[in-house]
Amino acid sequence: MSSPPYVSVRGVTKSFGSHQALGGVSLDVDRGEFVCLLGPSGCGKTTLLRILAGLEAPDRGGVWLQDREVTGLPPGERGIGMVFQSYALFPNLSAAENIAYGLKGRVPKKDIAERVREALELIGLPSAASRYPSELSGGQQQRVALARAVVTRPQLLLLDEPLSALDAKVRQKLRLELRSLQEELGLTTIMVTHDQEEALTMADRIILMNEARIVQAGTPQEVYERPASPFAADFIGAVNFFPAGRFRGGPDREELLAIRPEHIRIVGPGERTETAPIRCRVRHVEFRGPFYRAAVQPLDDAYASTEGLITVDIPAPQADLLRLAKDSLLSVHLPQERLI
Ligand code: ATP
Repeated sequence: MSSPPYVSVRGVTKSFGSHQALGGVSLDVDRGEFVCLLGPSGCGKTTLLRILAGLEAPDRGGVWLQDREVTGLPPGERGIGMVFQSYALFPNLSAAENIAYGLKGRVPKKDIAERVREALELIGLPSAASRYPSELSGGQQQRVALARAVVTRPQLLLLDEPLSALDAKVRQKLRLELRSLQEELGLTTIMVTHDQEEALTMADRIILMNEARIVQAGTPQEVYERPASPFAADFIGAVNFFPAGRFRGGPDREELLAIRPEHIRIVGPGERTETAPIRCRVRHVEFRGPFYRAAVQPLDDAYASTEGLITVDIPAPQADLLRLAKDSLLSVHLPQERLI
């Protein structure tokens, strides 16, 4: 018999007035797993996190933590650590006092200073103990908020867009730091994000939500390579859609085939491909560093994507050889095995 899930959400629904924020959500999370709740604005991610935290009660369904039902318990009795987008530190307390705050009454007074010192060490700010939030950068404040959440050694860490208020460079650095901290402490973590790159780089498993429901769950590779729906293909990564009938010869014009821009091949003169290459004119070119992203227009309209233009990623060295430029012509091939 397999062991019960560490965190279990079963059949949770929640409405605000006539608006349904969650329409029957079930989810299991393993011990030590890092799960990202990903989806567009308003899909219900934060509501689900707040129900896990006990800040909101579900209309139906429940939440279990280590096989104990916690649905009716107040937040303070669930053994949960939380970090939100806004740093939410107490401005009149130093970094050390902020971290110590959650420990009061939970660990013997004599141990608090040592635990705080360890936590500051863990987040790489051993010398910031006496500084006030206003004397810390955004990234440092968010590290302190993280330390405050983990110092109590919670059973479950809940993060709501904890990095989204930070600038791109700091955000990337903190992604790595947060992930190593989580692994080091073996913290079971559920993080809300609407940033697909964040979910792809950080999660063990992505839970993709849309319109109050979970629409796909899987590792980042599974969700990226085998999206369960056009919504999933489009939300995570860039994608071109084509009416399926064109490639499969079937009459069903409704069905769509998709292909990622990096999977489209540029065909050189005289090169043989399984299907005839599509001759295109380059309409826009964007330099992305390691590659160029081009929007190309098939000369024969029959090969247009549902958006008209086809998006193709071309590795920079190849683009240089091709002398890729607006209005030039090139031939592309959509490998059958890459169609999703
Ligand atoms: P975002 O990424 O924008 O934060 P989200 O996916 O986290 O979005 P939720 O905050 O869970 O979405 O909200 C889901 C829906 O429920 C939204 O339409 C929102 O307006 C609504 N909603 C959430 N909380 C309340 C509330 N307290 N009262 C009324 N409506 C609410």
